[in-house]
Amino acid sequence: MSQKFSSFASLAQLARALADKSVSSVELASHYLDRIERLNPEINAFITVERDKTLDQARAADARIAAGTAGPLTGLPVAHKDLFCAEGWRTTCGSKMLADFVSPYDATVIHKLHAEAGMVCVGRANMDEFAMGSSNETSYFGAVKNPWDTARVAGGSSGGSAAAVAAGLAPVATATDTGGSIRQPAGMCNLTGIKPSYGVVSRYGMVAYASSLDQGGVMAHTAEDCALMLSAMAGFDERDSTSLERPQEDYTRALGQPLHGLRIGLPKEFFGPGCDPAVMAGVQEAIQTYQKLGATLVDVSLPHTDLAVPVYYVIASAEASTNLSRYDGVRFGYRAPEYDGLDDMYKKSRSQAFGEEVKRRILVGTYVLSHGYYDAYYLQAQRIRRLITHDFAAAFTQCDIILGPTAPTPAFRIGEKIADPVQMYLFDIYTIAVNLAGLPGMSLPCGLANGLPVGLQLIGNYFAEARLLNAAHAYQQATDWHRQHPAGLD
Ligand code: GLN
Repeated sequence: MSQKFSSFASLAQLARALADKSVSSVELASHYLDRIERLNPEINAFITVERDKTLDQARAADARIAAGTAGPLTGLPVAHKDLFCAEGWRTTCGSKMLADFVSPYDATVIHKLHAEAGMVCVGRANMDEFAMGSSNETSYFGAVKNPWDTARVAGGSSGGSAAAVAAGLAPVATATDTGGSIRQPAGMCNLTGIKPSYGVVSRYGMVAYASSLDQGGVMAHTAEDCALMLSAMAGFDERDSTSLERPQEDYTRALGQPLHGLRIGLPKEFFGPGCDPAVMAGVQEAIQTYQKLGATLVDVSLPHTDLAVPVYYVIASAEASTNLSRYDGVRFGYRAPEYDGLDDMYKKSRSQAFGEEVKRRILVGTYVLSHGYYDAYYLQAQRIRRLITHDFAAAFTQCDIILGPTAPTPAFRIGEKIADPVQMYLFDIYTIAVNLAGLPGMSLPCGLANGLPVGLQLIGNYFAEARLLNAAHAYQQATDWHRQHPAGLD
């Protein structure tokens, strides 16, 4: 096909092509659907693709464009992490438990992006089971392969979202971040991703993992695309009791501000041993770029960083164990085909349909919440969570944004860490504290280490999404890393 646009075009570029009528929404959707058909068997980024549904949405978008009632995102393709409930679509959460679950309703994010904005869903992206993982290897639907090197993981838990965008199977993808699941796969796949402050994007209709940490967001090629998407996704929702009542923001308007005087905090705990020198080289080069752009550097400290991983795995597992108690085989989800009474039905349904990692979290979570252990583990973890939050508050008295690596190494090999959960958990060392504090964080491409993408993390104070996006955008105006794509996928 003579192609009028690149498969790796940004959302903003595709929006211009739609606006000047050089392409239709149906053409765009068909292009990505064809690529998915061709490349997904290898990458495994998608769990569900429904060509007819997608093309119906695209035709409706074209009609809206023709009628002159289109918004800025109307007709543009998007992939969704398979935990945003979408009416009539299978919503599996990467689990056998929900393998046949078709959602009867739309999550708020889905409603905003489709019913309101008029986007077109090209498919449902693979993910770690119930979003538990850092490598997308716990999915019931198999591991996702990193388009940069198919022997390696795409990161997790939103590995399908990341691989889909990185392989040019969708221009943007929704994702969620409970402990790093947007930033870490975005970093491994050379994408730009944002996790907003807790409460900015509604969690209504997002399958719950750890409710005090879960936050929806987006992955794209550029910070500008993240700004476009977040403007449509964010907003108060009375159906989510933790949603925050704040004025609606157009995040694209913040882009293009000069960085002169921006104070960038460098936490010493992010620059110590434990980070791959090749990753550090990319981060150091980014720091120099920011200095050239007019930012000043400040040394800061986040002294409780080393406690973030253990605290997170107590709190997240505790919340998971209660959230996942709803999967009992009664009202929805998997039910064991044979059982002997109600208790046995619960037991068999849960034993047969949850994977190893999910069971591990349920066991840990139930233990730390149980009588006699609650104070020693859960309550203590909550206390340290408060200290971690204070660390950030103190740092933000000295700086405007915090900068560091997204992850300690580039993408690791499939199978390399899966047998050792603690090794896997430690991979989240730089991202997890941000969720415990409820702050916004981003990852953006800042280099290649032996041909593998390196992620730069920017962390903002509460509701500093616009400032973060502007800082990321300024960096992308000055560098080319975000324009690099995996070889051989054009
Ligand atoms: N890797 C972390 C976990 O397994 C974070 C996952 C996430 O952010 N959803 O819980």
